[in-house]
Amino acid sequence: MQVFERQFIDGHWQSTQGRELVLHNPATEAPAAIVRLGSIADVDAAVAAARAALPAWSVTSFQERASILATAAGILQAQAGSLAESFAAEIGTPISVAKRLQVDTAIRLFHEAPRWVQARTGDDHLDRTLVSHVPIGVVACIAPWNYPLYLSACKVVPALLAGATVVLKPSELAPASIVAMADALHRAGLPKGVFNVVFGTGVEAGERLVTHPDVDAVSFTGSTGVGRRIAELAGRELKKVTLELGGKSPSIVLAGADLPRAVNSTLQKCLQNAGQTCAALTRLLVPDADYAAACSIAAAAANAIRVGDPLDVATELGPVISAKQRDQALALLQQAMDEGASLVAGGPDRPAHLPRGYFIAPTVVGMQDRDLAITRTEAFAPILTVQSYRDEEEAIAMANGTPFGLSGAVWAADESEALRVARRIRAGSVSINGAATHPDAPFGGFRHSGFGRERGAYGIDEFLTTQAFNR
Ligand code: NAP
Repeated sequence: MQVFERQFIDGHWQSTQGRELVLHNPATEAPAAIVRLGSIADVDAAVAAARAALPAWSVTSFQERASILATAAGILQAQAGSLAESFAAEIGTPISVAKRLQVDTAIRLFHEAPRWVQARTGDDHLDRTLVSHVPIGVVACIAPWNYPLYLSACKVVPALLAGATVVLKPSELAPASIVAMADALHRAGLPKGVFNVVFGTGVEAGERLVTHPDVDAVSFTGSTGVGRRIAELAGRELKKVTLELGGKSPSIVLAGADLPRAVNSTLQKCLQNAGQTCAALTRLLVPDADYAAACSIAAAAANAIRVGDPLDVATELGPVISAKQRDQALALLQQAMDEGASLVAGGPDRPAHLPRGYFIAPTVVGMQDRDLAITRTEAFAPILTVQSYRDEEEAIAMANGTPFGLSGAVWAADESEALRVARRIRAGSVSINGAATHPDAPFGGFRHSGFGRERGAYGIDEFLTTQAFNR
């Protein structure tokens, strides 16, 4: 059993008095690790270390910061195999994709972020006035468990490059890669106190961090409910906040689009990491005439997916992270069926060959043009809904008909037609005919999916502020 006993504060792994949390392997339900939770005193020590380290770090050269991060990336790269195994054991991400989804994406940030920061460094000249972009100060980064290393790196890497100092409160449910990141930054020569980690509960360690008077900004990724609470708390202290929250993202297939490609790709995006992906395309919207064909394509694809042990290289879909996550998703599915949705593939019964583990079969539910709770509520599970629409206006209204606005997709025979419809979707990123996200493009939400942006030069602005020197 792995034990994570300590918090990374002021350049050292420090013992802590907090209570123990036992983590279970989601595929076997067996106890797999123990995490010692950090206390309020640990948060206070971490913030004090970050505050003390700020003056010296904020005036280091950009090259010095980028070089430390490049060295840390190399250290992490050397452990890519064991990190991928830790994601399979902690979260249930299949080993066949864990390295690409969870490790490579994170390490890429260490190489890409220097380019983004460079776009925002240097002074602007307005006649004789100088406008400098300066680090925002001490940043609290709060991250979830579904992509622990990548989502933490999305905050930590640009913040450090911008010259800010950081206290990270990751999810205590997936600690291994965060310990590796702290070790890598330390071994790469990051000065003590610049980066600190406190594992702890959101309610205790998280809220203390958000309200701490020495924290200047909060960068949060997680659920909409917690995001609202953090915005309230940070608002009272007038702290800058970035919120990357939940989604219920639509995939609109326009008449004449390549239906099999659109359906298969949407299903694949929906099921990634067992559906535990904020930007997952969870709502497939097809023309009335294509509804039956779309359901049968989705059913065939879902039924062909190999569900099982995340450590087996043949596995395509692992379990969800916990019994709580599984039970919430299945309750939402049951409600949809009670409200009249029809099961196209999968369903609430556990896959017959998997007697243990928090497994949910890849599930597709059809409801033609009906709008049910499951089309408005994040399931965070491998469940795709299929709805049909009469015309383009109805498709756009359905796409925008949830409180969220994180991402979306549009499929059409003609790219300009797809772009015209995509411009009317109220979401931070929209994919046209399956195009992948550009690494320098901003990522973030509209409405209940949050505000602020990550990635690209746009994301760097969250960690900088300006100072004007009028001469
Ligand atoms: P969560 O429950 O909101 O937790 C996220 C983080 O916030 C965890 O570290 C959590 O700590 C902490 N937290 C909880 N309550 C807090 C509080 N009152 N004050 C401060 N911190 C608090 O989300 P999750 O279940 O871990 O992750 C899934 C959610 O994240 C989904 O809604 C998903 O859509 C969203 N998400 C969004 C993005 C994006 O980029 N937009 C990316 C990935 C995930 P504890 O672990 O102790 O609760």
